Amino acid sequence: MSNSAVAVPAAKPRPQHAPLTQFEVAGDELLVGGMPLTRLAARVGQTPFYVYSRAAMTARVQELRRHLPPEIHLHYAMKANPMPAVVQHMAGLVDGLDIASGGELAVALDTPMSPDFISFAGPGKSDSDLTRAIAAGVTLNLESEGEMERAAIIGRQLGVVPRVAVRVNPDFELKSSGMKMGGGPKQFGVDAERVPEMLARIGELKLDFQGFHIFSGSQNLKVAALQEAHEKTFALAIRLAAHAPTPLKTLNIGGGFGIPYFPGEERLDLAAVGANLKAMLPDVLPQLPGVEIVIELGRYLVGEAGLYVCRVVDRKVSRGQVYLVTDGGLHHHLSASGNFGQVIRKNYPVVIGNRVRGTERETVSVVGPLCTPLDLLADQMELARADVGDLVAVYQSGAYGLSASPSGFLSHPNAVEVLV
Ligand SMILES: *Cc1c(COP(=O)(O)O)cnc(C)c1O
Repeated sequence: MSNSAVAVPAAKPRPQHAPLTQFEVAGDELLVGGMPLTRLAARVGQTPFYVYSRAAMTARVQELRRHLPPEIHLHYAMKANPMPAVVQHMAGLVDGLDIASGGELAVALDTPMSPDFISFAGPGKSDSDLTRAIAAGVTLNLESEGEMERAAIIGRQLGVVPRVAVRVNPDFELKSSGMKMGGGPKQFGVDAERVPEMLARIGELKLDFQGFHIFSGSQNLKVAALQEAHEKTFALAIRLAAHAPTPLKTLNIGGGFGIPYFPGEERLDLAAVGANLKAMLPDVLPQLPGVEIVIELGRYLVGEAGLYVCRVVDRKVSRGQVYLVTDGGLHHHLSASGNFGQVIRKNYPVVIGNRVRGTERETVSVVGPLCTPLDLLADQMELARADVGDLVAVYQSGAYGLSASPSGFLSHPNAVEVLV
């Protein structure tokens, strides 16, 4: 057999990042909040920084309102981005805030959002957390029977009837999720099979029962998986509602809508998710009369609205491979480095912010200043040719960025955050 007869398999096309259009490009430079990135860096006064765009967040909420049935209430899960200015902006757009710590409670209470539409989830609420939340009048998403008993005692001491919902650990999980938070044994919520007994106790304790919180997972891009989770969530809620001391006022069905981070990931088909929910509601709502259905979203609301920007401080070549060494890295942006729960490290979308397309291209690795090989922002990625002083911009950085990173590690200067 001659060599020419051997079939050479066609090279598989490399998976690409989903197209990102949230920031305009003018003169080959990113425009953020109407300002070229280099000028924005001068305005901020330092690199590295995070920049979040009000316009992008507003547009995302409008898109959700367009596609979700009008009966669905939209909450912002603050842990995705707790910057007070961001939370203020979101509070004017959404119907409620979901918090998961005493610190987040304080930020949420500084916004105009009524405590009636603030709910507090999270295992391990201390007596101090419970006291503050009950005094504020926010809803406690109870994570255990023990928490329920402590809340009842604190409520009696304060002379305030605690508003409570039960966080249910469902008997199913959200399939193909980046992070599973329900199904099987979990530290979150109360196992569905124990909830009827707990509801009876809520009646005895005369707590102000609001409803259920059923959150089954996060970072999901699959319409079918979300549809299945929503169907099972409604069925579970209807089943448990039969044991409730009073009719459900709210049913928080979680969220889990994902955004495309990595090559090959496709944007969630929001229109299809909305259409599926619309089809379910005529069956669900009559079985839960008067209920308000809530979807709580974090990264889907803010993740695409943010960039992380750092500056190239050195350019070096090691055995043929180009390294751009920047002043930013995993100490500010653990998730982009691949160390925030990812199993296999993949590149976030990264560009040279002041040479987005760039006529000259090269394959480089972008690293940070930390003395650890984990400090990697882009691994062998094709970018415009960059030099010392150029700006590296990491997309999809509006959620789980600075507040989810070990900023003390290696004692480099902190990043700042701006909202434009
Ligand atoms: C983290 C969290 C969210 C937000 O998740 P996203 O993936 O950012 O949308 C929502 N609800 C609960 C209970 C959470 O713990």
